[in-house]
Amino acid sequence: MADNYIILVVKENEMVWMFDWKEIDCGSNTEFQVTCRECDTEYCFTVDTPDLVAWREDDNVAIQDAFPYLEAWERELLLSGLCDPCWKKKFDNG
Ligand SMILES: [Zn+2]
Repeated sequence: MADNYIILVVKENEMVWMFDWKEIDCGSNTEFQVTCRECDTEYCFTVDTPDLVAWREDDNVAIQDAFPYLEAWERELLLSGLCDPCWKKKFDNG
């Protein structure tokens, strides 16, 4: 059982930011523990490991195709490090 801590560094326009990302390989499943970079709330969810491998290895696989069973905000958290309330706060003007 591998236990990886990864700090993701993502370039967003001119900004570079990081968020905590923990990944636990449970064989057929991989559990993510991702901390929102805005509010420091930790979120946990599980994906199928083969889906994760396919997503990582093939640049043509979009995240919504790789993990159709995740909520949209969960995929967004993986991509951007923002949870649902923080995402809405940042990008919804209404
Ligand atoms: Zn948040």
